[in-house]
Amino acid sequence: NLTIAIVGRPNVGKSTIFNRVVGDRISIVQDEPGVTRDRIYAQGEWLGKQLNVIDTGGIEFNDQDFMTQIRLQAEIAMEEADVIIMMTNVRDGVTKTDSQIASMLRKTDKPVVLAVNKVDNPEQRAEIYDFYSLGLGDPFPISGSHGLGIGDILEEVFKLAPDDISNEEDDDTISFALIGRPNVGKSSMVNAILGENRVIVSNVAGTTRDAIDTSFEEDGQVFKIIDTAGIRKRGKVYEATEKYSVMRAMRAIERAQVCLVVLNAEEGIRDQDKTIAGYAHEAGRGIIIVVNKWDTLEKDNHTMKKFTDDIRREFQFIEYAPILFVSAETKQRLTQLPEIIAHVHGNFNRRIQSSLLNEVLVEAIRVNPAPSDKGRKLRIYYLTQVKTAPPTFVAFVNDEELMHFSYERFLSNQIRKSFDFLGTPIQIITRNRK
Ligand code: GDP
Repeated sequence: NLTIAIVGRPNVGKSTIFNRVVGDRISIVQDEPGVTRDRIYAQGEWLGKQLNVIDTGGIEFNDQDFMTQIRLQAEIAMEEADVIIMMTNVRDGVTKTDSQIASMLRKTDKPVVLAVNKVDNPEQRAEIYDFYSLGLGDPFPISGSHGLGIGDILEEVFKLAPDDISNEEDDDTISFALIGRPNVGKSSMVNAILGENRVIVSNVAGTTRDAIDTSFEEDGQVFKIIDTAGIRKRGKVYEATEKYSVMRAMRAIERAQVCLVVLNAEEGIRDQDKTIAGYAHEAGRGIIIVVNKWDTLEKDNHTMKKFTDDIRREFQFIEYAPILFVSAETKQRLTQLPEIIAHVHGNFNRRIQSSLLNEVLVEAIRVNPAPSDKGRKLRIYYLTQVKTAPPTFVAFVNDEELMHFSYERFLSNQIRKSFDFLGTPIQIITRNRK
């Protein structure tokens, strides 16, 4: 997907475009612990085209002065976006801050579209010519309050977008992402995984985006670590902010098949860990929980069991995820990772024959009869898998209103018990049989 970032000083109306593109999608909040929506990064759509929007203004740098905050936001945009929209407004004219932002943006090779907001009536159109002085090309007038001009901006954005994005899906490569808070050890793990004895496969014919990923081969299987460069890069102020780390994780999740949710054994489980894992779950990716820095704990016979119990309690929404205790420092158990990732990836893409599914269904109904409501009984005629990645099943029934969430859950547990779906979410959809 194309990613755009909107930058500009406070109160110019940056949320105008954000709201227009993302609309009410942002309020789709799942009723599950650990799943919350940060406003700073969202997926939207315009004329049937998918795009991601970063609202850099949503990342706060509390202890930074005004100009530093703006500079950091512009840096994030230049780093993360494919196309940047700089927002100004006609009422304030070209301000000193606008000029400062523009001079930062002029240094990037990425396309920048200049939007002049609050052009609410035709007379004001003449005033937008002042904005040529920013050196960012043609200013595009928009009116957030009247909803005018936004289509033109987005059209320009798509026109300027690099055309090598979105053709990512390739062959038999297993792509995985390491996601987690700052300092849990993602970068150290990448270095350890890519350590001496692995064959690094180069990305000669890759797209621009592939250049930030690294592929390696193990036992004849090619793996790709998503956003390797981003994980390894260190030391920018904004990279240490938790919201930024969530955004980075979301971008990686989008492109990965399997996500390693990295926790820090030394610090235990934090809310932000759950938020990040929640996004991977919501996106329907394969998930492995990796507890890093296992070398830092004084251990006895109960340490691993206790940590596992804590994880299972705090991460109930991903009870299907295997847990691995590792150390990037001592390399403990790291060699097991490719095999586990390949296993989860296999399950993520597993297809089960309908005949086998229906044997499971018959047995499930025998053990736990389908629910009734007001004297009407749910009848489930058959189960079929309609999709992989993640595995998705449809239950054809007499009346979908009679299906309960708890019974759907029971069915998915029966499916899990009968087949190996370790590490992957599975979905059940109930439909009326026509
Ligand atoms: P990232 O922000 O998640 O990429 O974390 P880094 O890889 O930069 O690691 C943060 C800090 O934790 C660094 O000082 C690492 O040396 C240290 N670290 C990473 N993994 C381990 C580990 O397994 N054991 C110990 N003791 N320290 C680790």
